[in-house]
Amino acid sequence: MNAPATSIRFFNTLTRRKETFTPIEPGKVRMYTCGPTVYDYAHIGNFRAFLFEDLLKRWLEYRGYTVTHVMNITDVDDKTIRGAKKQQIPLEQYTAHYTNAFFEDIKALNIKPANHYPKATNHIPEMIALIETLIQKGYAYKASDNSVYYAIKKFKNYGKLSHIKIQTLKKGARVKTDEYDKEEAQDFALWKAWTPEDGDVFWETPLGKGRPGWHIECSAMSMRYLGETFDIHCGGVDNIFPHHENEIAQSEAATGKKFVNYWLHNEHLLVDGKKMAKKFGNFYTLRDLLKRDFDPIAIRFLLLSTHYRAQLNFTFEGLDAARAAVERLRNFMRRLQDADGKGSGGKVAALVREAQACFSEAMDDDLNISVALGALFDFVREVNVLLDAGLVSRSEANEVAGFMQRLDGVLGVVGKMEKKEVLPKEAEELIGAREEARKARDWARADALRLKLREIGVIVEDTPQGVKWSLEKKR
Ligand SMILES: [Zn+2]
Repeated sequence: MNAPATSIRFFNTLTRRKETFTPIEPGKVRMYTCGPTVYDYAHIGNFRAFLFEDLLKRWLEYRGYTVTHVMNITDVDDKTIRGAKKQQIPLEQYTAHYTNAFFEDIKALNIKPANHYPKATNHIPEMIALIETLIQKGYAYKASDNSVYYAIKKFKNYGKLSHIKIQTLKKGARVKTDEYDKEEAQDFALWKAWTPEDGDVFWETPLGKGRPGWHIECSAMSMRYLGETFDIHCGGVDNIFPHHENEIAQSEAATGKKFVNYWLHNEHLLVDGKKMAKKFGNFYTLRDLLKRDFDPIAIRFLLLSTHYRAQLNFTFEGLDAARAAVERLRNFMRRLQDADGKGSGGKVAALVREAQACFSEAMDDDLNISVALGALFDFVREVNVLLDAGLVSRSEANEVAGFMQRLDGVLGVVGKMEKKEVLPKEAEELIGAREEARKARDWARADALRLKLREIGVIVEDTPQGVKWSLEKKR
């Protein structure tokens, strides 16, 4: 394992600058990523965020860090309640379906599981405690509608992440919905008093009968598992305001400590150059694409291969190209299995060193995946030239394969390559002839044929179940 690098740099939304990454605890990274709101199947824009976070985590692990990753499941909010009501089923049943679907989807995309997937409905007491602290400290108040709101003017750093200005704020303006725009920055709901639209979704608490707002959920669950201050918090750019701004306001007002050191946000995904929306007919869940027989690993590669802070334009041509790229890597791995050349005189080792350095340097630089992949495919092309010339020895091929597997620990697209044992045509004929000889009880001929097979690297064994063959292991 590599020693933790000190040269990783991330663009921190908080400072709008690239900064050298220094974890709170040497060698360890505590990271929180906003998870799915389980009111529907996740779409490819959601998966862009989850894949960026997967790449980030895998890169930190490659660099030797132990990562504790927490991803919440938002299973109670405005959208889930609306959805359950529409289907006339209990909230829990409604969200369980989409939670299971989410786990199936991330498995298909080869996303490494987080260490914890806390559900909001399992952490109501932590949310209540946090809200009570905010009330005691004067940052929150109960309004005439019996809901508890956060008084954003009380928190002097309000706006530090999204850079919004609240000077023009109307006194007493409040917002109860979970999502709203920057222009509507105002006191937001921490605890929402029950209304008939909530149906049977409520908790009886010291704050009254009601349910939590979305923002308090992430503050409570992140601090519950990662502590009052942790290293990295991720999400899509649309989470910066109001969600993450409000998380900072809630957590920092309650603890008096810095909440998160590095905020990383991924840009939007476009489809055919347009914002993805159901009304444009360009809205895809992962399931939509899998139904059309697209390879989930090609989808993974496509969503990973654009730098996370650049807009990604999803097209079906791009998906074809991604599939071809993955296939190129897999074919390369297959070729390596058969390589048995005379040796490159150190050329292969030099190429590995160079590719490793370029890949790492690019990834350390705020996960510059485009440059890293460029280095990888240059490497594949150059080694292929040596393979064509019969210059890659068995041990060099093993070195290259080991290097490729280490990188694939980061990319997660090649997977385990099973060696396909294919019997050479000549051997098939010899085995057939040997069977004939055995049937005729011509043991001398059968043995001679066995030796002949051995010469071409095929070992035959006569077992009670019949003749078995295997290929001789190459040294
Ligand atoms: Zn969140």
